[in-house]
Amino acid sequence: MLTQQIAFILLLIAAIYTAYRSTRKLIRNISLGKPMEAVDRVNERIKLVVLNALGQRKMFTRPIPAILHFFVYVGFVIINIEVLEIILDGITGHHRLFAPILGRFYPILISSFEFLGIMVLLSCAILLYRRNVLKVKRLNMPELSNFPRIDANIILVTEIILMSAFLLLDTADLNLQGKHEHYIVTGNFFFSGMFKPALAGLSVPALVVLERIGWWFHIIGICAFANYLPYSKHLHIILSFPTTFYSKLESKGKMQNMPDVEREVQIMLNPALASSAEAPTEVGRFGAKDVMDLSRRDLLAAYSCTECGRCTAACPANITGKLLSPRKIMMATRDRSEEIGRNLDAKKDINDGKSLLGDYITQEEILACTSCQACVEACPINIDPLSIILQLRRYTIMEEAKSPSGWNAMFGNIENNQAPWQFSPSDRFKWAEEE
Ligand code: SF4
Ligand code: SF4
Repeated sequence: MLTQQIAFILLLIAAIYTAYRSTRKLIRNISLGKPMEAVDRVNERIKLVVLNALGQRKMFTRPIPAILHFFVYVGFVIINIEVLEIILDGITGHHRLFAPILGRFYPILISSFEFLGIMVLLSCAILLYRRNVLKVKRLNMPELSNFPRIDANIILVTEIILMSAFLLLDTADLNLQGKHEHYIVTGNFFFSGMFKPALAGLSVPALVVLERIGWWFHIIGICAFANYLPYSKHLHIILSFPTTFYSKLESKGKMQNMPDVEREVQIMLNPALASSAEAPTEVGRFGAKDVMDLSRRDLLAAYSCTECGRCTAACPANITGKLLSPRKIMMATRDRSEEIGRNLDAKKDINDGKSLLGDYITQEEILACTSCQACVEACPINIDPLSIILQLRRYTIMEEAKSPSGWNAMFGNIENNQAPWQFSPSDRFKWAEEE
């Protein structure tokens, strides 16, 4: 047992250390963006976190995947409370440390964990089926080829194996209770109690081996999962909370103006403001070319994206066959942040000659956006792909002057006539005179 205790403590230290290093890199990558503005309306934000991140309110617009996802999420989180006992058992060399403390409530608690474990197992199996056999369209789009597809399957299969290991260890444990001094009698567990006869014919040493396989597999799996998380879309299990907290609270249609440009327009509309206007400050880059020009809120959102594709399924540009996919915008933003992070790890220059716009997202994609906000409305965790699209588009048009010719005419009219039309402002009410 002492050998197992030492092995367990070493495993735990290694897992915590590597998870800590990955978390630091993640924070550094998100910090590549510009700092966020001060947080206001905190109560409203907390309510959003409770409803959207914890309660998954927006998921229920599609009830079947929502229920499956709910079981996977709640089950996985709650079952991991049991990990606390496993960790304490592993460190102290005890077995089922909480059983004497909780008394007759202990089997009820473990039985409820087992119920959730079985629901997680079934939900993951159905989700795998939907993704790989039914080939649901939004889960099989071009941006999901290669790693994103493998990533989704890895997690679903891992959860199935973890839950099976959990049930195996409980079933072997029930068979060992009363036969081996280490396995204290706890009372029956509802679900593993049903599987108990299947292992009843095995010898005590064989049951101990099976119980230990289940126990070690469960804890190694969880340590591995914690370390895989930063490289996976499943990071949303954690990041959906801050992302929802930092949601944009203004009306969805409101666009973020550049203060200097806004002041110029106000002066154009009301020249009297010119005398009181402050001298213009140094204007940085118009819009965004790379992830460093985006805000940390945008980068946090990119790392939180679950790749569910609800945004793309609602996007009129995508539906009508355009190249644009808001999900791909978020995935590309995360991939580019990761690339810069890897450059920093390798002590290379942050300016590697590449950029988000051009190397990851094309002009054709961003120009296809109608700014309808359907993607923002559809996202279960309030991610705003349009914010990134607009900033990239602002750069394309204001810095590179690469707008389509039809748009240029409109821009000229706005600049000269303060309206998209070709009329002079003084002629604007002529239609009324003609009446
Ligand atoms: S705002 Fe743009 S990206 Fe979002 S749904 Fe509308 S067209 Fe698609
Ligand atoms: S942005 Fe939101 S809706 Fe779109 S794929 Fe990511 S999580 Fe899903």
